[in-house]
Amino acid sequence: MTVADDAAAAFRKEYGSEPTGLWAAPGRVNLIGEHTDYNEGFVLPFALPMRTIAAAAPGGEGWSACSSLAQDPVSFGVAEAGAPGAVDGWGGYVAGVVWALRDAGYTVPPARIAIASDVPLGSGLSSSHALECAVLTALADLGGLEIAIEERPKLVQRSENVYVGAPTGIMDQSASLRCTADHALFLDCRTYAVEQIPFDLSAAGLTILIINSNAPHHHSDGEYGARRKSCEEAARILGVPALRDVPADGLDAALARLDDPVMRRRVRHVVTEDQRVLDTVELLKSGRIREIGPLLTASHASMRDDFEITVDQVDVAVQAALDAGAYGARMTGGGFGGCVVALIDTDRASEVTKSVDAAYAERGFTPATAWVAVASAGATKL
Ligand code: ADP
Ligand code: MG
Repeated sequence: MTVADDAAAAFRKEYGSEPTGLWAAPGRVNLIGEHTDYNEGFVLPFALPMRTIAAAAPGGEGWSACSSLAQDPVSFGVAEAGAPGAVDGWGGYVAGVVWALRDAGYTVPPARIAIASDVPLGSGLSSSHALECAVLTALADLGGLEIAIEERPKLVQRSENVYVGAPTGIMDQSASLRCTADHALFLDCRTYAVEQIPFDLSAAGLTILIINSNAPHHHSDGEYGARRKSCEEAARILGVPALRDVPADGLDAALARLDDPVMRRRVRHVVTEDQRVLDTVELLKSGRIREIGPLLTASHASMRDDFEITVDQVDVAVQAALDAGAYGARMTGGGFGGCVVALIDTDRASEVTKSVDAAYAERGFTPATAWVAVASAGATKL
């Protein structure tokens, strides 16, 4: 059974009829460009083969949803869809999308929805956005809503920021909605301009191994806030709108104007990371995929030493992957745990996984979990 079959079967079981259609939206991972988003810089995510499917049909009073990954089905009407936070738990991600669409003036059809997914929940691969993007795509089609592709990520961002109350940026929804197979999505977080960058891993015999460090949950909200504040303060001192405006060849001059050594390290990470994204894009455009490896590894060193957002588990996973022949590896995501991405020859996946497992066992860490991925399609009707 595929995930799509699961969603259709769940629909039949819950509502006793056939869905009108199936809509899919993937999880995502960021290849490079970390903590650059709120500095108005660059990111380069790609969509994962793991995705969330919404089987849906119009009808009913308001909106109903069930999920194979959640205990309880939810249903809500216009009142709850009008009040951010009124539906909590997993249903909030569905109600949030209905709210965001209605708040933007769209007439959202009442609908029944069944969800199935193979995006791991809470692992930093953005299952929440996969869910919201699948629901948004389904409701837009069911209602015949003409919503430009550029507008869709902003609607999902409002759903997650305002209705659910999670302070996320624009990358995850943009990736889930706008990525295309065998491409990474180069996203300018200032202008929201996107460009599809060739990233055909399979044709090159390559894979991205995603390693979930399974590091114990770290309450990193304060750390995130502190990093952000430091970057904003530095931009103010340097007299630029955002750190994105400090060019790589102006870095030394900028650093010389900052007294605080911690702030200098934060700035160095952001400025060099933006440049690494640009360099990665150039290499990928000329088909030199393996050569991005050192940029990934340099990104990791910068997050470890300058931005100081890694933990032992991710540092060990990166080193173990490199020891087993990865071309490059780095932590991906906000930090303090989460996943590592490693660029590897596809036929070395089991060696690299074994190397990580052995390094973890030696240190007594909770075992890591690994998935292989290639750049996959964004949200679509099946
Ligand atoms: P991430 O987005 O990194 O996976 P989040 O904590 O942002 O982690 O989102 C996970 C939450 O999203 C889950 O706890 C659940 O409420 C909701 N969710 C995501 N996918 C599904 C799904 N397929 N079915 C039900 N709830 C889901
Ligand atoms: Mg999320």
